[in-house]
Amino acid sequence: MIWILFKSIVKAKKAGLMRLRPATEITRLDCLMAACAKCCKNLGSPRVTPQEAEKIGMEQLCHFGNAIFTKSRGSTCILLREGFCGIYEVRPSGCHEYPWYNIDGKLFFDSGCPGIKHDRDERPKAGDIQTWENFFPQTGSIGRWLLRCLCIVR
Ligand code: SF4
Ligand code: SF4
Repeated sequence: MIWILFKSIVKAKKAGLMRLRPATEITRLDCLMAACAKCCKNLGSPRVTPQEAEKIGMEQLCHFGNAIFTKSRGSTCILLREGFCGIYEVRPSGCHEYPWYNIDGKLFFDSGCPGIKHDRDERPKAGDIQTWENFFPQTGSIGRWLLRCLCIVR
């Protein structure tokens, strides 16, 4: 699992994503939607909770150990249809929360997301979004620490 994650994060970084910075200044997301879809094309399979899985339907999903993810082709989520999310209303919380991340209770954002703007403050509270660890259910603490080092840019 850890090598699959490393490979997908390295691939995402090559696409310009997974460049996490502390959200200490005024920041908001102005999502470019289908004109971009970079996150859905490059961040692969978001994790899905059992409650979300019931709404999405298991045929679109796969198990890895006890955890559930959307299926992907390479790094692209299979639910992306012509640039739009095919399950937008019931998309997983990780998709809904992107480009924000809660790392150790502090808010980070993916500075590689082309929709990031700094003209208005619409940052969520870190405590309102899932923790970084939640994205890597089958990964031990050292693996999660290495992934964090790979993704955070200072
Ligand atoms: S990468 Fe950012 S701007 Fe592009 S679709 Fe995803 S959230 Fe929107
Ligand atoms: S579920 Fe929808 S929003 Fe999430 S990665 Fe797939 S296509 Fe994108």
